[in-house]
Formats: sequence, structure tokens, C-alpha cells
Amino acid sequence: MAVPLLDLKAQYATIKEQILKEFSEIADSQYFILGPKVEKLEKEVAAYCHSNFAVGVTSGSDALIISLMVEGIGPGDEVITTPFTFFATVGAIVRVGATPVFADIDPVTYNIDPSKIEEKITARTKAIIPVHLFGQSADMDPIMEIAKKHNLIVIEDACQAIGAEYKGRRVGSIGDYGCFSFFPSKNLGCFGDGGMVTCNDPEKAKLLKIFRNHGQSGTYMHDYVGGNFRLDALQAGILSVKLPHLDSWSEARQHNAAEYDRLFAEAGLLDKVSLPKKAAYPVRHIYNQYCIEVADGKRDALVAHLRGIGIGCAVYYPLSLHLQHCFAALGGKEGDYPVSEKATGRIMALPIYPESTTAQRKEVVDAIAAFLK
Ligand SMILES: *Cc1c(COP(=O)(O)O)cnc(C)c1O
Repeated sequence: MAVPLLDLKAQYATIKEQILKEFSEIADSQYFILGPKVEKLEKEVAAYCHSNFAVGVTSGSDALIISLMVEGIGPGDEVITTPFTFFATVGAIVRVGATPVFADIDPVTYNIDPSKIEEKITARTKAIIPVHLFGQSADMDPIMEIAKKHNLIVIEDACQAIGAEYKGRRVGSIGDYGCFSFFPSKNLGCFGDGGMVTCNDPEKAKLLKIFRNHGQSGTYMHDYVGGNFRLDALQAGILSVKLPHLDSWSEARQHNAAEYDRLFAEAGLLDKVSLPKKAAYPVRHIYNQYCIEVADGKRDALVAHLRGIGIGCAVYYPLSLHLQHCFAALGGKEGDYPVSEKATGRIMALPIYPESTTAQRKEVVDAIAAFLK
């Protein structure tokens, strides 16, 4: 039995009629960019994320870029973030002309280690971007404390973590901005690219709306240079259909994660693989990914083996960002961020999507056991 890493068709089958009805409505309206469908979704996402405002944008990457732009962060400024994240987090900082500065990660959550942030702060530091990787919140209290003390903006990269909670608070509502992605493989995905920025400050929300439309503050009147970061109605309509299902999908992912935990233990594999760990602080982990670590340099061979027998798996991420060729000018070298580097050599993601079955998980664990034993 083949086990895909993700099966979007299985989810679509459960909501097809509603989606097609939405398509037909939007086609009849011929209203495609921003407008009532986007405004409706913005209200829904703001409520879901316990934030005062949500502003629809073109992607998660653009959500990060526009947040930095609204803050006027650019050349000469430094932004502290994690080296263990999807490229876009760091790409956004460079795209606005600022300089990324890395702080190593915590080995339990893979998120930025708050105890390593303060030593990186200089007179040029303007912001911190914590990432809630794989669907588990970074340790936000100490991050917010550091930001307050040094007068820094906090932009939460919540692209993998919509609905995740930190001590009962939804991610994206804790920092100054929360950035979300609706890329199809995220827990809430649309039929293309889409994103959202949440915030609690009405001034920031106003500026986000101005910046996403080329900095236009009145009709063809531009107080700023923004960009085209507008979300379209078709994506918003799809997301409004999907959002009411998100909690049940995230709960299914939690159930699937718990089942993997049990199956790995039953297979006697706990000395060969290390399972995803919950943070020491209270979280709601939404398992955008279920990542195990494989020791003894066997990760790449295991990934190749599983793929060879039709089991989907992926490596998030194979190279710490300070070692990426395009960031060579930042001067990062091997050994700079040992926790991140160690994770890149051992981590791999297994199929965890909501519709995946117990039989599929057994197949995955059996195949791993057979290979590692
Ligand atoms: C997916 C993702 C992004 C980028 O989102 P896009 O919508 O693909 O542009 C940014 N940061 C993280 C951590 C992500 O997982």
C-alpha cells in the first residue's frame, strides 16, 4: 500500500459540493480581488486567531515582507530569527534590505531558544521573528519580555501553526504581527497561494491594508510605496468553506501523532528514533508536521528506502539557513548553530494528514522498523 505524504484529494472529496457552490457564486459576481469575500474571511480568521484584525495577503512569504515594510525595517536594520525554518522567514528579511541575525534553536521544540536572543541584540536590532515550527508555539513569554525591554517589534511566523496555542493564547495574537500561509500543504490551505497578517493595533491594521495595495491611501494617492499583496476572492471563498473544519482536521492530526507515538513504542524503536516532543510550557500543537529524528547517520538512507517502497516522507529542513549559499555574505559557518545543524542531519517528516489511516501508520512504522533493525 502506497502512503502519500499528503493527500489533498481525500480532503477535497469531503467538501467538494460547498467549494463548487462558492466558485459558482464568485464567477457570477465577477468580483475577484479583495472585496466582500476577503473581508468576510478576514473577520473569521481574526476571530479564530483571537486577534483584533486580520489582513488578507498574497502568501505567507508576503505576510512577512509586508509586516517588515509597515515597520519601515530595511537597510542597516537587523532582525533576529531562527536558522531552522522554511527559507521564506529569512528571505523576507533580506528582501526588505535588512540583515538577518540568527539565534540557535531549542532541541525540544526546534523553535528559537529565547536564552540565545539577547546576546544577539545590537543598536541596529529592530525586530524578532520567532517561528512556530511544525505547528508548535515558540516560547513567547520570554521573547515578548526581551522585545519589550529592548523596544523591538515581534513578528510571529505562524505559517505552520494556525490555531496553535501558547499557554491558552492563539499564536499570531501574541506579538505585534502574526503571519499565516494558506499554501495547500498547511493545515488550512487554499487552491493556490494565499496568506494573512493578524494584529491587534488598529493603526498597524490600517497600514497593512494600505501597503498591500501599493501604498495607496486615497484613490491613486500614495503616501507609501507598498506592493501588490492583495488576496483574491476565490481563495478567500475556499478558505471560508474550509475554516469551520480546521479544528476537526487539527484534532485528527493530534490523534494521528498520538497513534504514531504508540506504534513506535510498541515496535521497540524508541532507542533508534526520537519522536516529536511537547514543549515544557502548555501548548496546543497542531502537527502541521510529525517529524522524527534518526540517529547514526541513517536518515538519508531511510528516506530513500521509504520513498522507494511508496511511503512519502520529506526532510524539513536539510540545511541550516546560515549555511545556505545565498546567505554566504552573512559569514555563517559550520558549528555556529550546533543545535540547528544537528537537527538538519537527523530530522524527517512522516505522513500525518487528517485523512490518513491507522493501517497507513502501521505500514510506515513497520517499514521503519524493518529498515532500522
Ligand atoms: C510556508 C511557510 C512560509 C511561506 O508561506 P508561503 O505562503 O508559501 O509563501 C513562511 N514561513 C514558514 C515557517 C512556512 O512554513
